[in-house]
Amino acid sequence: PVYSFKSITVVPSATDFIDICLSKTQRQTPTVVRTTFHISRIRQHYTRSVRFAQQCFADRLRGILDEFPVIDELHPFMASLMNVLYDRDHYKLALGQIATALRLVERVGKDYIRLLKFGDSLYRCKTLKRAALGRMCTILKKQKSALAYLEQVRQHLSRLPSIDPTDPTLLVCGFPNCGKSTTVNKLSRADVDVQPWAFTTQSLFVGHFDYKYTRWQVVDSPGVLDHPLQDMNTIEMQSITALAHLKASILFFLDISEQCGYSIEQQVGLFRNITPLFANKPLTVVLNKIDVVRPNDLDDDDKALIQSLVETDGVEVMAMSGLTEEGLAEVKASACDRLLAQRQREKLATTTNADRLKVRLH
Ligand code: GDP
Repeated sequence: PVYSFKSITVVPSATDFIDICLSKTQRQTPTVVRTTFHISRIRQHYTRSVRFAQQCFADRLRGILDEFPVIDELHPFMASLMNVLYDRDHYKLALGQIATALRLVERVGKDYIRLLKFGDSLYRCKTLKRAALGRMCTILKKQKSALAYLEQVRQHLSRLPSIDPTDPTLLVCGFPNCGKSTTVNKLSRADVDVQPWAFTTQSLFVGHFDYKYTRWQVVDSPGVLDHPLQDMNTIEMQSITALAHLKASILFFLDISEQCGYSIEQQVGLFRNITPLFANKPLTVVLNKIDVVRPNDLDDDDKALIQSLVETDGVEVMAMSGLTEEGLAEVKASACDRLLAQRQREKLATTTNADRLKVRLH
């Protein structure tokens, strides 16, 4: 699927749009027309001009309609990004206006080509041509703000991350310095891409790996999923809303060495604070940096806290070290398998429903 919007053609301003089309028309139909010409030749000349201008305006307008994504056809992840960034209604309105302009330009062309059939003098034909082109320009001038807005969207779209929202994903979160990026790098097959993240000055880090014949992505969003909800601004909340649309298994990193500067208690607090965002997604709490401290050597309070994650929160808790890679493969396999199992269950549920429907229909 094509989720890269990097190839959309520049949308000219209304003035440039008009200049381009008028000068093209001028260049394409340069014949000198003389009063001595037979009237049919005169009509033919001006008809060609009008038709050419109409085509030029229409082609460019149609190009915009073809190239800009239709929000309703996008994956919810991209649709949600576009909605919060550009406002779904405003975007649809702008494209709707361009579609109307296209229809109007075509109608003006048709009308004036018909009128030209009755042009009985060079003066008359020339006036009709001028009027036709003038009306096309007026239609375009009215699109000034829609065109400017779409150009802004285009420039912005090219800076959206190229995440494939249909790829299964491991989404990592946790306080800074818990070892997320170290682990993302270890998991990834090649270099981790740095993707612009439209909402914040931060970037998304996206790595890829293969697991059970499927391409997976692992996404780290520093600065977003690393502080409590109440401290997040609207923009950060929106960026999380978009991420929540990914088919993801969540890895929450808990640095049990506390070298990251946060106590285990604080980290468990953050986990409980942000997990409501990931309802219905497989959650794993990763006890990281076991090369520094073994889970068994933790003091009783911390052990009890971690135990309560399993018993109260019902999450999977696993231990590993991103540095030595001890336990890394197990964490990866478990997180991936749980997402795959969930997908399998969902598939089964839909087919069972379809079967029930069939039975009822018969
Ligand atoms: P992030 O901010 O969560 O992405 O954390 P980083 O991956 O940048 O790691 C922060 C620091 O912890 C770095 O100095 C890493 O070298 C170190 N670190 C990461 N993982 C481990 C680990 O498993 N064991 C140890 N001892 N250090 C680690």
